Amino acid sequence: MIRNFAMKHPRTCLLFLCSMLPGLLLSGRLAAQTPAVPALPATNQGIVVTLLGTAGPSMSQERAESGTLIQAGGETLLIDCGRGVPERLVQAGVRGVDKIFLTHLHSDHTEGLPILWMSGWNSRSTRMSLWGPGTGPDQPTGTVGLAQALTTAFATNTHIRRDLVEKWPAEKILIDAHDIEEGVVYQNKGVTVTAFRVKHDPVTPAFGYRIDYAGHSVVVSGDTRPSDNLVKFSRGADVLIHEVFMQGGPANGGSATGMAAGMAAGMAAVTGMGAPAGEGPPDSAVGAGNAVAAYHTSPEEAADIFTRVAPRLAVYSHIAPNLADPTDRTRAAGYKGPLQVGKDMMVITIGESVSVK
Ligand SMILES: [Zn+2]
Ligand SMILES: [Zn+2]
Repeated sequence: MIRNFAMKHPRTCLLFLCSMLPGLLLSGRLAAQTPAVPALPATNQGIVVTLLGTAGPSMSQERAESGTLIQAGGETLLIDCGRGVPERLVQAGVRGVDKIFLTHLHSDHTEGLPILWMSGWNSRSTRMSLWGPGTGPDQPTGTVGLAQALTTAFATNTHIRRDLVEKWPAEKILIDAHDIEEGVVYQNKGVTVTAFRVKHDPVTPAFGYRIDYAGHSVVVSGDTRPSDNLVKFSRGADVLIHEVFMQGGPANGGSATGMAAGMAAGMAAVTGMGAPAGEGPPDSAVGAGNAVAAYHTSPEEAADIFTRVAPRLAVYSHIAPNLADPTDRTRAAGYKGPLQVGKDMMVITIGESVSVK
């Protein structure tokens, strides 16, 4: 079942719409000037996946935070929008993204949202639609609440640009937000998006997504510890994109140097990521690292998931810490199938064959 912001708050939406009529009169003219999202070649019957951001929480210039673009059947869908993802969309030449699916509400999956929302005001053909988890015991805001809070936070900017100076179209700055539950959450033009529960407690609910089109499919894990439900929903998938977390990461085969190493160390101090495995009180970097590791998936655990799912291609994204390479540990743990460590702007085409560029 989907809860809809407009349905849930009819009075708010009515007031909002009434205050925006002057802007609505301009929308047709502005829409005509707006370049559309680049269409896929008509001959392409498959799914094109662009890894826009492949890091977890990070200020890395090499890797943006979480964001995966899915293009299929003329549909353009974004899964998660962490820091740097709107900029990666510009780099990919893709504008007007208006359908965003959030796996969960951690900051590295949502920080780019206000930038995408505001910077895309005139390039979207319609309002922005958001799907994602609702509230939970340790989740005071869900996706609808996030959209409401964004609307409030940017009310001054919206009012001035919509009503007073730029007269930008009112319709396109609305957010159509949905708190979702497990199941099919979106279907159009032969593309089906299915949300499934993953295990990222205490972030509950948290979801992964499976996208099916023309007999092909890709699964994005979101953040999770090893999840039997993910294995179930990934059955028969062509490509499985899975998160990975390596305690003590940059020391395990990473290439941390100079400023990047300093950044990794800084993030370790703040988040526990990159802290060496071991004993330590909860408020120490080591203790925080243990707690963070407990709600993610190690390379050894991912090897088991990949072996059970046996996709045509297994892909690591949301690599944390972002300078580590999980390949050796994944192979040592026994996964023998095709494996790709994701990088920002990597393009995976899924059709009769699966190719990586
Ligand atoms: Zn994350
Ligand atoms: Zn998370």
